[in-house]
Amino acid sequence: MKTITILLIVYASLVVICFALAVRRRLHNKEGLKNKIGKDVLNSFVAALFFPIVIYMGIKALYYRNRPRPIPKKQRKWFKSDRVYCRGKMMSLAEYNATHKRQFTLEQVYGKKYVASLSEEEKAGFDKFENKIEIGSDLPDDPYTKMAIVLAEALYMDDFSKLSKCLAEDVKMIRYKRETIVGQSGFVDYWKGFLKRVKGARQPIDVEVKKNNFIGRAIVSIHYRDIQDDYVFLYIESAKIKLAIITQRQQQPIVIRYHDLEDPAIPYETIMKEKGEAVDAEPNRMPCLHCGCLSEGLEWYKLNHDSGPYAHVGKVSVCPHCKEQAEFYPEIFVRKD
Ligand SMILES: [Zn+2]
Repeated sequence: MKTITILLIVYASLVVICFALAVRRRLHNKEGLKNKIGKDVLNSFVAALFFPIVIYMGIKALYYRNRPRPIPKKQRKWFKSDRVYCRGKMMSLAEYNATHKRQFTLEQVYGKKYVASLSEEEKAGFDKFENKIEIGSDLPDDPYTKMAIVLAEALYMDDFSKLSKCLAEDVKMIRYKRETIVGQSGFVDYWKGFLKRVKGARQPIDVEVKKNNFIGRAIVSIHYRDIQDDYVFLYIESAKIKLAIITQRQQQPIVIRYHDLEDPAIPYETIMKEKGEAVDAEPNRMPCLHCGCLSEGLEWYKLNHDSGPYAHVGKVSVCPHCKEQAEFYPEIFVRKD
């Protein structure tokens, strides 16, 4: 049977239903069947047209409630082929999947024919960014790796229930050069707020647990689309997170180059040889990651550090208990040759 025949039968049935309802109303109101019956017939024809439209719109809205909408055919030529609509906003399918934690393929949104019609050039232009989690393969088997994975998974899943159980009662969350938040609820609220800001800016993130050269153990690295990575270092005591600090991978201004938090710590003896005068300790800076001593409790000095072909002049903080570098912050970068 042809589609048009089916549609006509459905339409005729709906007209009959609408008219039957109108007759029922008349009988109920004791209006009789003769008075202005033509109006009811006409209304039945119009109502029968609207019913399927309303039902169709309803089903469509329900269908796209939790999935991306394809760009209408007429508009497609103006946009990249991986773009979709979500609640009136246009975004790449990768971004939709990242921000909604879904795994839709372009084929599921547009169909096989559409995907087959795309050129290699068009496919190369797709947004590759995905909200993903990576766990390094060379991580030591220790509590730092375990806790870094718990934090990374909490950020990836937006679920902090497991992480909450891994926090010391007086856990501290340091935002480098900004503030120190104390307590379990403050810690969790900070990260919930962090994810909210990231989502609000429609900025998908990649979360990676990797071995860090500065401290020699697992950290959480957060990759953004446009700005440099954030690193999260932990300090653990009695199998609980006692301290965490979030800082950019390179802490000093970007023009002071070739030194970041992938460089190994400077040996304590070298610092003692190279250090200049003592300077005031500062809060909300790198703590001692060996004993959890906060930056304001550390010794701070001026430092002129010989780092091979370069010299970096700045400030250093060391832990007097552990005899380890906590932070080196170069302020001047000198090329020696
Ligand atoms: Zn220490």
